[in-house]
Amino acid sequence: MRLEHSKKAHAVAVAVLPLAGTGVALLLARGWGVGPLELGLFCLMYSLSMVGITVGFHRCFAHGSFEAHPWVRAALAICGSMACQGPLIYWVANHRIHHRFTDAPGDPHSPYFHGTTPLGKLRGLWHAHLGWTYSHEIPDTVTYARDLLRSASTRELSRLYFVWLVLGLALPALLGGLFTLSLQGALRGLLWGGFVRIFVAYQVSLAIGSIAHSHGNRPFRIRGQSANSALLALPTFGEGWHQNHHAFPYSGVFGLQWWQVDPGAIVLRGLAALGWVWNIKVPPASAIAARSAAPEESWGSEPSPAERAARAAASHPQSPQ
Ligand SMILES: [Zn+2]
Ligand SMILES: [Zn+2]
Repeated sequence: MRLEHSKKAHAVAVAVLPLAGTGVALLLARGWGVGPLELGLFCLMYSLSMVGITVGFHRCFAHGSFEAHPWVRAALAICGSMACQGPLIYWVANHRIHHRFTDAPGDPHSPYFHGTTPLGKLRGLWHAHLGWTYSHEIPDTVTYARDLLRSASTRELSRLYFVWLVLGLALPALLGGLFTLSLQGALRGLLWGGFVRIFVAYQVSLAIGSIAHSHGNRPFRIRGQSANSALLALPTFGEGWHQNHHAFPYSGVFGLQWWQVDPGAIVLRGLAALGWVWNIKVPPASAIAARSAAPEESWGSEPSPAERAARAAASHPQSPQ
């Protein structure tokens, strides 16, 4: 019950406070302008939190797509927590449930199952984007994230979620204050590196559940309605290649074609070049070819009942994918 209350309070706070902070930032910008300080701290903190989510929470912890030094894993967990998408182990359990039940009953954020009328589709999109953060069932972490619960350091990193969240606000405020040696600079840092950054990063991340499960290209024959969204690829640091990811959940690289820009994979390869990350899993070309279908553009088509049933009976909950 307490957890249920915390979940709802967190969902409302993360939806509303960064939006309000962004409003204040824009109002103040009319007088102060938006300069290199604001843009620099926004880009720095945005990159840190997005790398933390896609390379850390998603590719490292949820799917075990590569191996890394413990301090790299810790840094990724801390950066991901700054994105305000919930504690690491909670996030991972929820995400694995999404893979197990993709676009079938049990999926915490499928845009389907709200009817096929235009209004029903709109309600589905709202649920997949933001509504689910308030209404989803608390994930069973013992079933879906047992591997992470076994690690004392990962448990601790997850438990300290709110410390990292506050750090994500304090850091840009401190940098803004130091660069300008003023309280006004600290406030500008807090607003642009904190609130505006969280607002934008949160909305583009949520768009993977809503937009990239309803609109885009589907080059693979797989269950579920995930799709590649080129528009989302860059702002999400590679998450936009979402059907690629559902086709090969274990892959550390989401952009499977040379032209599919995947900033998360670029960061990962950079870390590997430094020797901090190794054994990055990538599907062989033969596997990619075997699962490929004729490219099609699909706009919000519903999964068939047979497909829903097959998906519901799909993979084992404990498999980290
Ligand atoms: Zn998905
Ligand atoms: Zn995933």
